Amino acid sequence: MNNPVSLVCIAGFRENCQRLHKYALPYYLGWAIKMPIEGKLYLWGEKVKYVPEETGVYAFYDKNRILIYLGGSANLRQTFTKYRETNFSDDPRKRETVYYRRMGAQNWEERVKNLLNEYKMDCGDIPKLNNTLKTGEKVTPEWGFYFYEAFNKPLFEAAFNLDDLRKKITKVPVTSLEFHQNRGDFARWIRDVFKETQLAERISRMSSSGEDLRLMLLSALGNPEVAECPECGTLSKPEKTWEMAGRPSKTGERLQLTIALYKCEDCDKTFRKVVKKEKIKA
Ligand SMILES: [Zn+2]
Repeated sequence: MNNPVSLVCIAGFRENCQRLHKYALPYYLGWAIKMPIEGKLYLWGEKVKYVPEETGVYAFYDKNRILIYLGGSANLRQTFTKYRETNFSDDPRKRETVYYRRMGAQNWEERVKNLLNEYKMDCGDIPKLNNTLKTGEKVTPEWGFYFYEAFNKPLFEAAFNLDDLRKKITKVPVTSLEFHQNRGDFARWIRDVFKETQLAERISRMSSSGEDLRLMLLSALGNPEVAECPECGTLSKPEKTWEMAGRPSKTGERLQLTIALYKCEDCDKTFRKVVKKEKIKA
């Protein structure tokens, strides 16, 4: 065996390394040898709100125990609680998380960087949700999504990544959304081109029509401006939004929040939500 690295990969990252599953060694051998993060594999759930308040790194796994994300935080409890309470609204792709591992680590940023490098050496690629290019990157024209209203009615609107898709969904006529949804085109494109199986499944199950369909698609694609009514769960778009900036920090930066006001169409409940947070120069 002249390639010790791949041996480590096959054995150690067996449960994580999607590409190497065909070389399956029993995973119980793998577990004992090497993991990106040591320690117990926990089930994601309500209890994550009680992990220690410590600086550390964590790994998220999907239902097949494939590593999908490596992250870190200055306060694991705070980060996990936020994920739990918002159901990963900052990154809906993380909703595939079923298991996790965590580990205290002083300099977590450095540690995450090293773990990702190590993982890449062993597996050839970084975990799919650490790959921010995946959603940002544009596909070549032959893989684009071209909107139609009917077979003989192209709209001359196209999307080349998921962000594009979200933007185009806000503007094309709803008849086009219904046309594609009825044929399963959105789900198929998302699954085949972006390998986002969970998102694809979620979209394929949608049976709404009209503007409801538009809102559901936007919500699934992570449009932060679409919010669920806390009373009845109906999706709404904001009536208005405004910005608020905090006090400048020592480094002269201020945190600017964009807040949206909603009025539920179904039950008339009004509610607010922070739809954007960004650092600006004071
Ligand atoms: Zn409502």
